Amino acid sequence: MKPGESADHQIQVDSDLAHRSLAGGFVYLGFVAALWAATDYAATHGSLLLAIGGMSLVCACARFLLGYHFTPLHARSARVWRSAFFLAVNLNILVWGLFLAATFLLFGYDNWKTMLLLICMAGTAPIALASLSPSLSVLRSFLCFLTVPMISANLYAGGARGYTMALVFSWYLFFAWVHAGMIHRQYMQHIREKFALDAARKSAESASRAKSAFLANMSHELRTPMNAILGMTHLALSGPLDAQQREYLAAVKSSGETLLQLLNGLLDFSRIEAEKVVLECIPFSVRDLVNDTLQSFAIQIQEKGLALRVGVDHDVPLWMYGDPLRLRQVLINVVGNAVKFTSVGKIEFRVSRLDQFAGTVTLHFTVRDTGIGIPTAKQRSIFEAFEQGDASTTREYGGTGLGLAISSKLVELMSGRMWVESRPGEGSLFHWTARFANPTSEPAAHATLPQHASTTARAQMPLRILIAEDHEISRRLLKTIVEMRGHSATAVSNGNEVLREIEQHQFDVVLMDIHMPEMDGLEATAAIRRNESISHVPIIALTAESAPGLRERYLAAGITEYLAKPVKPELLFALIEGMGRQPERGKTQHPPPA
Ligand code: ADP
Repeated sequence: MKPGESADHQIQVDSDLAHRSLAGGFVYLGFVAALWAATDYAATHGSLLLAIGGMSLVCACARFLLGYHFTPLHARSARVWRSAFFLAVNLNILVWGLFLAATFLLFGYDNWKTMLLLICMAGTAPIALASLSPSLSVLRSFLCFLTVPMISANLYAGGARGYTMALVFSWYLFFAWVHAGMIHRQYMQHIREKFALDAARKSAESASRAKSAFLANMSHELRTPMNAILGMTHLALSGPLDAQQREYLAAVKSSGETLLQLLNGLLDFSRIEAEKVVLECIPFSVRDLVNDTLQSFAIQIQEKGLALRVGVDHDVPLWMYGDPLRLRQVLINVVGNAVKFTSVGKIEFRVSRLDQFAGTVTLHFTVRDTGIGIPTAKQRSIFEAFEQGDASTTREYGGTGLGLAISSKLVELMSGRMWVESRPGEGSLFHWTARFANPTSEPAAHATLPQHASTTARAQMPLRILIAEDHEISRRLLKTIVEMRGHSATAVSNGNEVLREIEQHQFDVVLMDIHMPEMDGLEATAAIRRNESISHVPIIALTAESAPGLRERYLAAGITEYLAKPVKPELLFALIEGMGRQPERGKTQHPPPA
């Protein structure tokens, strides 16, 4: 072992040694059997053969036990284990080296017994070179014990034959000695590389964990101020302003939204890369999804004077199960690009059924545009992160080069793929396929959010809302937003205050920040769910956290629904107004947290 190499290296080396030579000792019992059966050794020197057999059996069992019980024995004392192993292996071979020499002295080279034994022993050397290579000292002593008795016996016998054979055995020992060193060095190199690889893997894993934690924190830290910027801009824009102020604020809002988009894109990409995105499997209508999504591009398309054609083939099922939000994300990105990169002509969107079997349906989506097109050399790389058609793209059209990378990975998660056909100057045709579960019948009416809740219109039925948020600006912002909508709001800054308020006053819904000092949102939720008289109140968690399984965790903790920060007012209103006024206390019980 080199200085600086860890005890783990030594354990690995000893373990390899033990396991490689686990059954090695029993080979010699085979030699005894061969001598017994194929020669008259038993008849002439039966007790010698029996003694050799007995010694071999003891050594073989010792080697086996030292290998089989390696972990506990080695853990007790590595030094004792090593000495015992050294002793067992070398005693084993010393016995056979002496036996070979004795056989030669007894019967000479012309005898079949000597020849048979010589062949057997010659065969064990290459096997030992491989199996004992983890320990150079064991290996070299093995070679010495195997050959030195025979060299000595030949020198003792003397004569041309004896000296020649002593020389041959010495020559053989020399080469085996040198090769033992080489094989041992190769083995050690392999072990060092294995450990270096393991260390690199562990450090990469820990770097990836650190990256995920960093992203989760950044997400929280960045979204909270973004929440305030976008929310305050929204409020300012809904008040009286002169044209220039409105223009400035509109620019702040659009830049804020772009920044948020970039932030979300980065988070999304790193989560997909870390294989942390799990797709939902809920019923949805692809026709509704396509209509809603394309609707959001209507103004842009109109302003650019483009024509839009949409076709959903009649054999595309009305309902299917999948992740509509992620599919919408892909749609928005590809159609958004088509609109962005096309200044004249038309955009065609089409969905057709590719195949349908075993309860699944595979759909083929295409988006054709008559825009700037993509150079052939770039048609593959645009699906990689941060890749754009050419260097002037960002300058002219903006964007980050993340959209298609995320979309193609999402499509892969949907068991599909994405590709493009394009000619520069003529336009592009983006294709993607995706597989969905296909139910046999239309699902029962499922709860959907009202799609458009105007943020400026007043609510039909005013609600009593308790807002719990420790960040002062966010708290004031939320309160103003819900009050402008016509609801009444009480704002508090931690879980203890939530409990105090909710026990004294009646509320229809609680908007609960999760990370708060003193008592956080989840603890407060658990306390509310434990109190029978208030356990029915719906609690909407507001969080900047984004992690896989978050929703499930919140639902299990008693949260009714959650909204990601920055909170979109239209989504918030759609959600709370969809819940309506709560029945009087004690009438409906919310299930206690799991
Ligand atoms: P972004 O649009 O944010 O730059 P994307 O990953 O969505 O990132 O697209 C990567 C690049 O692919 C774009 O920058 C653009 O060069 C090219 N591209 C994508 N869609 C089209 C299209 N419909 N027409 C022309 N080029 C496109």
